[in-house]
Amino acid sequence: MQPCHWYDDGHGGRYLVPGCATRAHDPDGETCTCPTLADQLAKARSEIAALRKAKKSFDHWHTAILVAVHAHPDGVQIMKSAAAQAGV
Ligand SMILES: [Zn+2]
Repeated sequence: MQPCHWYDDGHGGRYLVPGCATRAHDPDGETCTCPTLADQLAKARSEIAALRKAKKSFDHWHTAILVAVHAHPDGVQIMKSAAAQAGV
């Protein structure tokens, strides 16, 4: 869910799109309880770091599989089959 933000209809209308329960229940009432931009940035950076770590692990695993397949007597055929399945 996106944090609270304003939608401009391009015709002079501007509408609040609530992103938190506080604003959903009372748009003009209490202050927004959505994460701040700094919080959102910290979360995004954390997610990017986790994805990079997972990709690095995947790349390591992928390389190990390639080495094992190429060392296999049927390695070329296995790679051709894998390429065909992947559509490359
Ligand atoms: Zn909010």
